[in-house]
Amino acid sequence: MKFNTLVIHGGIDGDKATGAVTVPIYQTSTYKQKAVGEHTGYEYSRTGNPTREALEKLIADLEGGYRGFAFGSGMAALSSILMLFKSGDHIIIGDDVYGGTYRVVDKVFSHLGIVYDAVDTTSVDNIRKAVKHNTKAIIVETPSNPLMKLTDIAAVSEIAKEQNLLLVVDNTFMTPYLQRPLELGADIVVHSATKYLGGHSDVVAGLVAVNTEALAEKLHFVQNSVGAILGPQDSWLLIKGIRTLALRMDRHCENATKIAQWLLLQTWVKKVYYPGLDSKVTHYEKQMKDYGGMISFEVASQDIVDKIMSDLKVITLAESLGGIESLISVPAKMTHASVPPEKRQALGIKDTLIRLSVGVEDVEDIIKDLRPFI
Ligand SMILES: *Cc1c(COP(=O)(O)O)cnc(C)c1O
Repeated sequence: MKFNTLVIHGGIDGDKATGAVTVPIYQTSTYKQKAVGEHTGYEYSRTGNPTREALEKLIADLEGGYRGFAFGSGMAALSSILMLFKSGDHIIIGDDVYGGTYRVVDKVFSHLGIVYDAVDTTSVDNIRKAVKHNTKAIIVETPSNPLMKLTDIAAVSEIAKEQNLLLVVDNTFMTPYLQRPLELGADIVVHSATKYLGGHSDVVAGLVAVNTEALAEKLHFVQNSVGAILGPQDSWLLIKGIRTLALRMDRHCENATKIAQWLLLQTWVKKVYYPGLDSKVTHYEKQMKDYGGMISFEVASQDIVDKIMSDLKVITLAESLGGIESLISVPAKMTHASVPPEKRQALGIKDTLIRLSVGVEDVEDIIKDLRPFI
């Protein structure tokens, strides 16, 4: 099946018992057994639930994985992946990974003895240099947030294979419609499904797909042990969101390209960060089908930031991303406020940097909101 069909019919499609075309919400915690120990394959909903399983099969199909997992949030998914490691293990993370990922590695797992180094993963050499005798995994995000830096997944996977490390790719910004890390050699792909996969800013969830049975068994053991599962109602909502992923992503990309090109022409815009505009990007074109819906841009003054933010009619001033509605934020004051100012400066996250999650509205209306001088 081609992707556009898979996104509609992948996973468990409909309900065999009644013919219902959507998967029912199995709002149950437990399952009746015929005799002691003789069950239907479901015993208890932390371990397995048919609605969640339909979603898990769907993400496995879309990412081309061996098995999928649905968690209560993107962070629950990432934390469960980190629980595959033990005290004394070393991991390498990107130096501008999602703030919550950095926080859980730096403040939670480091207390449990898992050590890390944060490196600029856009250079494969940096990763190679950071590998130690106890390194077990590399976690990368591409494009990164908010500066849209790209990492060559296939090149990183070569180092990972050579050094026997797990390669984990956070594919939240791209979705499997635009980028499939497992096909490029990653072992685990993780999503904040809260963003594009759900697509409607109405559910917080995490999804994972893994490439082997051995990894699937280990991760299921962690998921069942720690209980970081997604409930059946949210699982259903997420399936509903994913069914229109291909349609939405096409419009997100089309709108974002037009807006990025328009921003480039504005005298008050100092820099535009959108992968599709960078001539160096051709090198990575093989890994991404299109460039997604996220744009960051730096404006000439604080005054311009204030003008744009104070007169929004269509775009919503909010954190998060990936919904059908356009969302705008100032990373230095919002999503990245907890990053120390010197580190923000070093990373290039200026106070005049604006991040836009381009929605699927009419592009003219979004652009009208971005004009600071009307
Ligand atoms: C939002 C986000 C997360 C965290 O996901 P939650 O669903 O908010 O827990 C992880 N990675 C990236 C890239 C994100 O944007």
